[in-house]
Amino acid sequence: MNTKLSHTDIKQLLSDHGLKSTSQRIVIYGVLNSLATHPTTEEVYSCIRDEHPSISLATVYKTLETFVSVGICRKVMSKSGTMRYDRNVSDHGHIYCENTEEIIDYEDSELDALLADYFSRKKISNLKIKEIKIQINGDKIDLRKKIQVL
Ligand SMILES: [Zn+2]
Repeated sequence: MNTKLSHTDIKQLLSDHGLKSTSQRIVIYGVLNSLATHPTTEEVYSCIRDEHPSISLATVYKTLETFVSVGICRKVMSKSGTMRYDRNVSDHGHIYCENTEEIIDYEDSELDALLADYFSRKKISNLKIKEIKIQINGDKIDLRKKIQVL
């Protein structure tokens, strides 16, 4: 999921989630949406600070938290404990690259179906499973190349 959203799309998304579409929110969501990574607050801030010097780091943080509270973005913790933001709110897993600190979306409906089937047969006592998330930890082998799910 990496669709480019227009100003109008972002306004609509904000209003659909009960948020006023202030120019700050539009700018911040626009940056979050344009980054294919799972950025930290500081990374989002560094993308907007030159063009929008009136938006502070604290505002970026508060705005991202507002987005999380209405469900248009999620928080992801990296292995080192850094909080990152994820604009992909559909069900998906992550690949954590330990040597580069990258977090890459991992979507595999075939694996999801296998796991759902497996756990429907192999019961875990006294637990109603709501979600199974895949997390793959590893090291990038060739640092010049992207990690790609084939
Ligand atoms: Zn993600």
